[in-house]
Amino acid sequence: MGEESLSIGFLGGAGTVTGSKTLLEFDDQKILVDCGLFQGLKVFRQLNWQPLPVLPSRINSVLITHAHLDHVGYIPLLVKNGFKGSIYATPPTCDLAKVILRDSAKLQEEEAWLANQGGYTKHQPAVPLYTLKDAEESLKNFVPVEEGRVISFTKEFSFRFLKSGHILGSAFIEINFKNRIIVFSGDLGRANPVLLAPPTKIPEADYLILESTYGDRDHSKTLTEDALAYLVNDALRKKGNLIIPTFAVERAQEIMFILNTLREKNMIPASVPVYLDSPMGIDATEVMMNYPAWHKLSQEMISKMVHDIIKVRELSETINIIKDKRSKIIIAGSGMLSGGRALEYLKAYVEDRRTTVLFVGYQAEGTRGRAMLRGAEKIKIHGHYYFINADIKEISSFSGHADRSEIIQWLFGFTKLPQKIFLNHGELKSSDALRMQINETFSCSCEIPLLNEKKSLFF
Ligand SMILES: [Zn+2]
Repeated sequence: MGEESLSIGFLGGAGTVTGSKTLLEFDDQKILVDCGLFQGLKVFRQLNWQPLPVLPSRINSVLITHAHLDHVGYIPLLVKNGFKGSIYATPPTCDLAKVILRDSAKLQEEEAWLANQGGYTKHQPAVPLYTLKDAEESLKNFVPVEEGRVISFTKEFSFRFLKSGHILGSAFIEINFKNRIIVFSGDLGRANPVLLAPPTKIPEADYLILESTYGDRDHSKTLTEDALAYLVNDALRKKGNLIIPTFAVERAQEIMFILNTLREKNMIPASVPVYLDSPMGIDATEVMMNYPAWHKLSQEMISKMVHDIIKVRELSETINIIKDKRSKIIIAGSGMLSGGRALEYLKAYVEDRRTTVLFVGYQAEGTRGRAMLRGAEKIKIHGHYYFINADIKEISSFSGHADRSEIIQWLFGFTKLPQKIFLNHGELKSSDALRMQINETFSCSCEIPLLNEKKSLFF
């Protein structure tokens, strides 16, 4: 590596939407951008158990774009395996990471316990990837940094966070290295997010690392409110339940906000009970209340939004809700059905024809959510198969990710386009479609790095 150069290694989020980890190396510095968990397909999940190509103890710092598990979920393991530096993130991201990492650790402990109880593991005994204690330990490394504040690591390297409109606290990372600018999009938000300010327009960059989750398609233009109202009323007409598997951060709050709007407009009956069965979703809503500068809702709007929601923390309550025969709306994690309370409702209701399961977020390859959307006949939960007789629906306009047109539109915001764009965080088909679209629209070169590929950025 030449004196002037900086290398960039794609340790995750390459060829897939999960496991985001990008390593920047220059002089004796190693800086990791995002530290996510692989999810979905088993070949990817197994990567969580493989050692990183760099020793965690050699990494100086970690910068985090946002608190989703596929961007922060590996942190407890990084710290457990020797990382001693600081983890920089915006204040809401620090608070949300607490919620997400504690939950992730608990889920992994639970899964390992269940696997050992039920004997449905090939590993004897099954062990969690990390424990709650590991997660707690790793939280001590977080350092909150306000949006726009410049942090310098060396004379030649500094960075700042800029709002990216994806979830509460989410940010682009704009790095200045020897007066050249490298921007990480993290996950790029919609042009007009329901609860957040739109993504910041970046004036210029020399290199851009850009996500490509929806690089091959545009979201449906159906009005989200109308679509949700229709499905609620349809579930009530069938005397069934509406289960909405939901990401705890942002999507859960969006759904609550829209349900409240629908009630106020009399588009759905006020009498139908709505449960938020997600301890993490409840905590994330509280974090949102603590950061009014990071979203568009007034305190009064939030109070109204949560007023009629029945919040559920304990599994014993879940069991009672399932015993209750009345129709209801259930917002429960996890968003891709890889774990969480939503599975308890599926076990109870997915074989019932009156049930509707509504997907409102991205379903990664290899997840139960993706299988159900593809029309799977049965689904395996905790070692048992269940026939899918429920109606499976999707409202894609709910997405927290910019679609193809919105990504291109955001790129038009640059007065000086990057000389090179690396497309990450996408399944290959999406990344490649976006690469072609960018090549047709702009005159900058575009690459799709492979997993563990390392590139030199020469200055
Ligand atoms: Zn995300």
